[in-house]
Amino acid sequence: MINGVKGTQDLYFPEIKAWHRIEAAARELFALYGYSEIRTPVMEHTELFVRSVGDETDIVSKEMYTFQDKKGRSLTLRPEYTAGVMRSVVENRLHDSARHSRLYYIGPQFRYERPQKGRYRQFHQIGIEALGDASPGCDFECITIGRELMRRLGIAQVEVRINSVGCPRCRPAYTEKLREALAGRSGELCQDCRRRLETNPLRVLDCKVPSCQPVLTEAPKISECLCDECAAHFEEVKNLLSEFEVPFVPWPRLVRGLDYYKKTVFEMISPLLGAQDALLGGGRYDGLLGQLGGPALPSFGWALGLERLALITPAGEEKREPEVYIAWMGGELYKPALRIASKLREKGVPVIIDGEERSVKNSMKRADRLNVKFAVIVGEDEIKAERLTVKNLESGEQFAFGVEEAASFFMSNS
Ligand SMILES: [Zn+2]
Ligand SMILES: [Zn+2]
Repeated sequence: MINGVKGTQDLYFPEIKAWHRIEAAARELFALYGYSEIRTPVMEHTELFVRSVGDETDIVSKEMYTFQDKKGRSLTLRPEYTAGVMRSVVENRLHDSARHSRLYYIGPQFRYERPQKGRYRQFHQIGIEALGDASPGCDFECITIGRELMRRLGIAQVEVRINSVGCPRCRPAYTEKLREALAGRSGELCQDCRRRLETNPLRVLDCKVPSCQPVLTEAPKISECLCDECAAHFEEVKNLLSEFEVPFVPWPRLVRGLDYYKKTVFEMISPLLGAQDALLGGGRYDGLLGQLGGPALPSFGWALGLERLALITPAGEEKREPEVYIAWMGGELYKPALRIASKLREKGVPVIIDGEERSVKNSMKRADRLNVKFAVIVGEDEIKAERLTVKNLESGEQFAFGVEEAASFFMSNS
């Protein structure tokens, strides 16, 4: 037997139902806000991620699935979606068209990480990207869309945490201040943090190691070092969220794992997940498009993890679909039974019919194993009388119906 690759999973009924529910809710909601879907390839040139995500990040330095193709080009399975979308925007000049300024995506991504519950090496995300809008209103609307999606999925316990990570004008001074403050207490920090202190001090704030927490709690806050523009932008985002009753918590240590964020960053946390991991997160990345050779358009985006969201998405009040098994007996009745099946399907009734002939007893056993609610018995008497025998397998009740009648019965009794 050949097993699936470590850190990957197969998805099928019934778990796949939650995925469908999330994807359908997302598509419907995004359309209401004028977003359209973009699908980009799962592989890109490695250089794209090095340039956009940043070579100091764990993603690029440790976690990418990078390989050479047969011509020796270095390709990478996308570890996140935004870089590919931005590459496509620049390459296809989507920024020239207003209709392409609001994009969403749904798809798999790949990172070589230690597999844990709800965390896989092939994982799936849904995300949005709003291009060309530098206003606090854009940040506010994107955050609202995320919150609204959770509400529509019936996930009541969600906390929105927001912060501003400043801009190239105000961040360097803060980074220096942070480095100085942390350097004095480097003995209390974990090994990773001591390394990050040299390479990328902001990343230290992300550390989850318990022994680092006291130092980090007392570290200087970026909100106290923002330039006037960044501070005013952040204030307005918070004003809009308050005004339109989207509850949030300012979270001064929130920096997110990627280098390209500027100004607003945010995360949504659910205690239902039991971990500190975010359910959804994103922010503003005004420089990214320019960094990839496009115009310096402002952008805002977020992504959510489907695996984790599916774990806590309630099943919902989905109507049970009519489930019907057609039991036919006698080789000459197979074709008439097929015609009945297609008539029922035309009316919208999902029907299972097998090609193998079975006795009445074995047909009922089969229906039982399929866990369907109804069996339609097609025997010689039924064909002669042009009436179907319909058996409710849960209650044992039996009815005689014409095909049309049976179809409306199934549609209303499921
Ligand atoms: Zn600034
Ligand atoms: Zn640490």
